[in-house]
Amino acid sequence: MNRARLLVFNAALGPLDYRVPDGMEVEPGSVVIAPLGPRQILGIVWEPERLPATAVPDSRLRPLLEALPVPPLREPLRRLIEWTADYYIAPLAAVARMALSSGAALRGGGTATEYRLTGHEPARLTPQRAAALDALQGEQATIRELAHIASVSEGVLRGMVNAGLLEAVSVDVDRPYPRAQPDHAVPLLGADQQVAANRFVAAVDRAEFAPFLLDGVTGSGKTEAYFEGVAAALRAGRQVLVLMPEIALTENFLSRFASRFGTAPVVWHSGLKSTERRRAWRSLAFGEAQVVVGARSALFLPFARLGLIVVDEAHEVSFKQDDGVRYNARDVAVMRARFEASPVILASATPALESLQMAEAGIYEKLDLPDRFGGAHLPAIETLDLREHPPERGRWLAPPLVARLKDRLARGEQSLLFLNRRGYAPLTLCRNCGYRFQCPNCSAWLVEHRLSQRLACHHCGHETAPPATCPECGEPDCLVACGPGVERIADEIAEIMPEARVALVTSDTLTSRERAAQFVADATSGAIDVIVGTQLVTKGYHFPELTLVGVVDADLGLEGGDLRAAERTYQQIAQVAGRAGRASKPGEVLIQTRHPEAAVIAALAAGDRDAFYDAETEARREAGAPPFGRWAAIIVSSEDEAEARDAARAVGGAAPHLNDVLVLGPAPAPLSLLRGRYRYRLLINARRSTQLQDIIREWLGPLRFAPGVRIAVDIDPYSFV
Ligand code: ADP
Ligand code: ZN
Repeated sequence: MNRARLLVFNAALGPLDYRVPDGMEVEPGSVVIAPLGPRQILGIVWEPERLPATAVPDSRLRPLLEALPVPPLREPLRRLIEWTADYYIAPLAAVARMALSSGAALRGGGTATEYRLTGHEPARLTPQRAAALDALQGEQATIRELAHIASVSEGVLRGMVNAGLLEAVSVDVDRPYPRAQPDHAVPLLGADQQVAANRFVAAVDRAEFAPFLLDGVTGSGKTEAYFEGVAAALRAGRQVLVLMPEIALTENFLSRFASRFGTAPVVWHSGLKSTERRRAWRSLAFGEAQVVVGARSALFLPFARLGLIVVDEAHEVSFKQDDGVRYNARDVAVMRARFEASPVILASATPALESLQMAEAGIYEKLDLPDRFGGAHLPAIETLDLREHPPERGRWLAPPLVARLKDRLARGEQSLLFLNRRGYAPLTLCRNCGYRFQCPNCSAWLVEHRLSQRLACHHCGHETAPPATCPECGEPDCLVACGPGVERIADEIAEIMPEARVALVTSDTLTSRERAAQFVADATSGAIDVIVGTQLVTKGYHFPELTLVGVVDADLGLEGGDLRAAERTYQQIAQVAGRAGRASKPGEVLIQTRHPEAAVIAALAAGDRDAFYDAETEARREAGAPPFGRWAAIIVSSEDEAEARDAARAVGGAAPHLNDVLVLGPAPAPLSLLRGRYRYRLLINARRSTQLQDIIREWLGPLRFAPGVRIAVDIDPYSFV
């Protein structure tokens, strides 16, 4: 080939053609550097016939500058990039960029310089250096990353290098990972586990596309079952991707993996240091790394020979990305498996309706683990009607729940209180004039965080110190907290059971892997009596002494009434309930609610999963909602309110008039101001068979907007705010 067509990472440019100079070897997937005007840009050589043609004659082509020393992106990944861009109506360039997620990895191996503490501690230290010494115990990273970890400037750290407090270490960027051993510690599986494991092993050995839905109650041993599929891939010398929703929470998973395979897997998430990203990316691309456990972005890693994909907790809404390329990692994982000709296992105790429907239609093979492993029983679930048993004034826990918490404490057992709300209180107002503290950038209330003494916006991250006087009426010490967040529930426990050891578990407190590991160690050793947590505590944990789960407000998730509110509530409560009674002691779950008769709550209390899914299926079928119909959202935004409104009207005015397609809106979004942008939404509902993407492309393609306007298309939306 001496003419190469490049996919470049600037969507405005489109594909560009270059001449391949003599002596340079490129093929589709090669990553190259090319000249553009006076600049140099990164590009991926693509099959020319798959990109729009360019008109530059051969004689005027500029030569490529360099082919980078990494394996070409393989065809299955190239096809996945195209599919994702096409399905989610995203620029090809934006999707391709997700595959080249480590710039450093594109350069050859070598060494990098990292820094760590020397252990030398002088008698006198500036407060900043003292804080850095504290924060950097056990850390080794670049100066920039250490500055971030210790919240000090890079200058402070350079000073510490000169003073002999930090030392440079040279690390081999490509040092290999320890090898996982498929037969390190093979468990004896239960009968149902064995059936599932055999199917996975057979599918891995066939090396064909095969989608599975592993549907098993919490504690049924899904992980052990799919580990046999992982073992089969390792034996065959193929790589495995395990996608997880919350990477900070995989401490437990990593140690289980290490017990089974003799070493931890490679971890991939957005918080990795640049050297770790580079090492993981290259190791995968060269076919050395065997198993990667990662958050959704791991989906676009350049595996050399992928043999199995597992999506654990596959129902989790966090697999849906809601900015940039708005893809659903669960669905894209199935497509990647198809292109790679590999099996894919979706594991869940509460599968998404969409996944169950695929199983029903015979497209996914469903494997059931109906019983808890080792004979542990599912916990007894009861509802606690808050209208009948109101909590005391200014409190949020009803007397029967308080009684049982005290009972657990007396018996030396653990309790868990679940409330999916960070901070102390969701709304703060002035007791004198009623002024409500609102975010200046968003149409949202500021949430009081007492631990950090801030008022914070959970949408844009805006924070202020609580003011001494009301900004409206000037009243001093006027703040009143309205409603509970987890911090307030932890306070309540401290009041009613002062001797209890309480752990608060939210993304504000489990800020690092070390802290997460410490929490798991404390909870396992019995050093914690009551865990108070957000959805962070609903998944994955296995604490043998935990026998009581209290759901503080089951009605919370049902408010707002978006399409999946009922399903999400069901999943969350079923997951958190699954934390109780996982070992020999029986578990009990109390659900506080004002609507015990609501279908979701009643199904949970009755332990009747099928009743819930049947009712939900019927409701969706009637509404033409997924999986029976298709939804898409168009979000129009601008910093200028009138500009946003005009653009939204223009989009609405150009809406197609088709029998099978219903367009709702434009209407101001529920979050009508977000990060300083005014927002309007349109919702499109279509029959399943409709080529919805084509319709939207034709609809929006000819429209032109003011430069400040942004149009985002969300296919299969999860968020309706
Ligand atoms: P799930 O993922 O379905 O909630 P887990 O995989 O966490 O369930 O299993 C629950 C518990 O049972 C874990 O502590 C796990 O180690 C244990 N377990 C599951 N299967 C086996 C097995 N075959 N042999 C020994 N322990 C097992
Ligand atoms: Zn905000």
